[in-house]
Amino acid sequence: MTAEPLPRADVIESTNPATGAALPPVPMSTPSEVADTIARARAAQAGWAALPLEERIQAVKALVRRMLERQDEATTVMSGETGRGKTECMMSELASIDAFGKMAISAAREALAPHKVNLPKLEYPGKRAVVELVPRGVVAIIAPWNYPLGNFFKSLMPALLSGNAVVLKPSEHTPRTAVWLKEQCDRVFPRDLVGLVQGDGRVGQLLLEGAVDAVVFTGSVRTGKKVSALAGERLIPCSVELGGKDAAIVLADCDLDRTVAGIGYWALHNAGQNCAAIERVYVEEAIADTFVKRLGRLMEHLQVSTGEGLSDLGPLQNRQQLDIVRRHVQEAVAQGAVTVCGGEPTGHGLGYRPTLLDRCTQAMTVVSEETFGPVLAVVRVKNAEEAVRLANDSAYGLNGSVWTRDIERGEALARRLEVGVALVNNHALTGIMPEMPWTGVKDTGPGVASSKYAYHTFARPRTVFIDSGKDPDPWWFPVNPDLDALGHALIDRSLGSFMATFRLLGLLKKRVAAIRKLAN
Ligand code: NDP
Repeated sequence: MTAEPLPRADVIESTNPATGAALPPVPMSTPSEVADTIARARAAQAGWAALPLEERIQAVKALVRRMLERQDEATTVMSGETGRGKTECMMSELASIDAFGKMAISAAREALAPHKVNLPKLEYPGKRAVVELVPRGVVAIIAPWNYPLGNFFKSLMPALLSGNAVVLKPSEHTPRTAVWLKEQCDRVFPRDLVGLVQGDGRVGQLLLEGAVDAVVFTGSVRTGKKVSALAGERLIPCSVELGGKDAAIVLADCDLDRTVAGIGYWALHNAGQNCAAIERVYVEEAIADTFVKRLGRLMEHLQVSTGEGLSDLGPLQNRQQLDIVRRHVQEAVAQGAVTVCGGEPTGHGLGYRPTLLDRCTQAMTVVSEETFGPVLAVVRVKNAEEAVRLANDSAYGLNGSVWTRDIERGEALARRLEVGVALVNNHALTGIMPEMPWTGVKDTGPGVASSKYAYHTFARPRTVFIDSGKDPDPWWFPVNPDLDALGHALIDRSLGSFMATFRLLGLLKKRVAAIRKLAN
């Protein structure tokens, strides 16, 4: 699989999705620039890895501080290329940077600490071993456009703390936030330690075909499978976090006000362009009418960004995404779904009205495929059992939630959901809580972001084994009756024979003498 050739000196051109205003063009990396960026990162990595962990920690803290101090710069660039309001950019991406930094640091101290192995003295005299964590080398981080900063920093910090260099590849839809991030990194870290390549999927593929040592990919299932296959061919570690089609189960005994507010938020946050957005809600028939009525009323009140002032949600980030949303809604309505509110573009840029579809079925694309837009499909169910069965009837498995006042029952039901993150009375929130692994099952992919469990991608264990070299090992040549007796003594000892230890001591001496004699 070889990437198609790139046109030389191409540029990425795009517009603000809320206003349609043209944004400054960004040069696309040429193949030789991609190779050069990886080579420079590799050259910078050796010195960085040689620093004590505490020095790397200080640099990461400086990066966090620098980004937070420049919050207005960051939200301006993010808002410009996503069309979201600056408040939303701040709340969903910048505000959690400090927590991610702190967690990455404490996880690094734990995950990267060397581990001394306790070897049994009788069998392994004069030997010792330690398992230490060494950086992979150069880590490629390939990210989508929905959280142009957040999708990077959750992996950037642990990768750097582990002693790696990093090459960032943003989506062609949001190249400018990555430019800003790279500028901040350049002020804090050694030159070239954090590289940046720009362009579409062909540039991502070139990066993987280059000499990178690990890859963290966030994006669609289709591309994630390609990336995993390429990483498999190159035998490099690969962490993929892919799409979702999250379900929420609403039980008749829930706190209805809170549930309506919570589901409304997690369905429409970032205009639903969130891998863990609630896209399907299974509601018990007994409260379905009231739930739908109240949620529809809430959704109708929400303001979609026009590029001015405060808004509740932004537009779709790109035209392809808007087309998917329109198609899913149209198909659902044609198959009998009832539009409670929305169901059409706002008329401003790529804005789409918050949309609630009632009486949906599993057969509709709006229930089975990822929509990634401000659309929520309601499926009415007889009871919790039916809800769990239908929630699990999905190709994806990222977050799943149960909304109820009966916490014990909710917890038991949540554990039956086939997901990486199971919640009661909330949804997706742990995405900004880096203590917990963010991971999935099925087509959502097995990648792990956040927490100490993510470090496997960034550091490999190396065993260092030291033999004092005093005696030869008793199983070395020659094979003789004493070796056979030694084997039996070892097994008898494992089975609990106290006397076997004494036999073992005598046999070990005889074996060492026989081995030395043969070699003399
Ligand atoms: P894509 O898979 O299209 O793109 C993701 C990234 O991969 C982009 O930078 C893209 O570049 C790049 N890319 C495209 N083709 C290749 C290739 N052959 N080799 C290497 N890189 C390539 O995803 P979307 O942009 O559509 O992002 C939305 C998806 O991301 C949704 O499915 C969403 O659920 C998922 N997502 C998952 C998250 C999770 O934690 N599970 C979090 C956030 C999003 P370019 O865009 O320039 O083509």
